[in-house]
Amino acid sequence: MKKRTVAQITRSEHLDMGGTKVKQPLPTMKVEQVDPFLLLHHFGPTRVGPGSDPLGVGPHPHRGFEPVTFLYNGGILHKDSRGNEGLLQSGDVQWMTAGRGIIHSERASPEFLDKGGVMEGVQLWINLPKKDKMAQPAYQDIKAARIPEIVESEGKVNLRLVAGPYKGKQGPARTFTPILALQATLSQGGYTEVEIPEHFNALLYILHGEIQLNENFSYESETMIHFRNDGEGFSLRAKADSQALILAGAPIGEPLAQWGPYVMNTQTEIMEAMRDYQMGKMGVYIE
Ligand code: MN
Repeated sequence: MKKRTVAQITRSEHLDMGGTKVKQPLPTMKVEQVDPFLLLHHFGPTRVGPGSDPLGVGPHPHRGFEPVTFLYNGGILHKDSRGNEGLLQSGDVQWMTAGRGIIHSERASPEFLDKGGVMEGVQLWINLPKKDKMAQPAYQDIKAARIPEIVESEGKVNLRLVAGPYKGKQGPARTFTPILALQATLSQGGYTEVEIPEHFNALLYILHGEIQLNENFSYESETMIHFRNDGEGFSLRAKADSQALILAGAPIGEPLAQWGPYVMNTQTEIMEAMRDYQMGKMGVYIE
């Protein structure tokens, strides 16, 4: 396999979102996007006792992209302005199409509030092409059991295939543009060759552990590696028990206009989004 070289390495910036500790490797001052991936938030792991919500994000709007939540640990109750309600448990993925607009809240589930525990997850923003930005909002609540697993390296590598075809299997998420999303768990010594279509942009985010890339340098947690499009993939060797998220996708290649929760192509469309939100065109949601 011809291995891809590294274009850029970024470390997570830490932010506090209303009491929630969030690590953000994308975007940073150096990297605006890895088309079609716009933003990656790694929240937790945060351990709390009963009655405490380490997440607690109240009603807010989105338009023009897909927010995807990978819940590694904990429980999230999701509610929105269109009357939808969804429960995410450990290992579940919520693939949401914000499309023309939605207002939602993301909070700890009643069971989590009752018992306490560890909350950890990743929220990823994936851009939509211009023709699909005003699509009807939709959800795919993907239960853990529906996600196929690819086991390699004598059980030391486990790849959960959330989206895309990979090594003869197919991930359950339906996407607007070609996307590959893999949740990798590696035990120390585990080795895998990750195959990526040549025209896809690709990134690797290390949540935990230490991973040697292409039999060369090793990288620790909270690091994001963005690859050049100069090979068929890359290899990973776990130097310690590790968790990583592998994301790749066909670039959309259209102009980007972004303001907070809206991702459009022009500034005029951002103004329209703000106006539509004020006018209640994304629905009304009061908790
Ligand atoms: Mn949101």
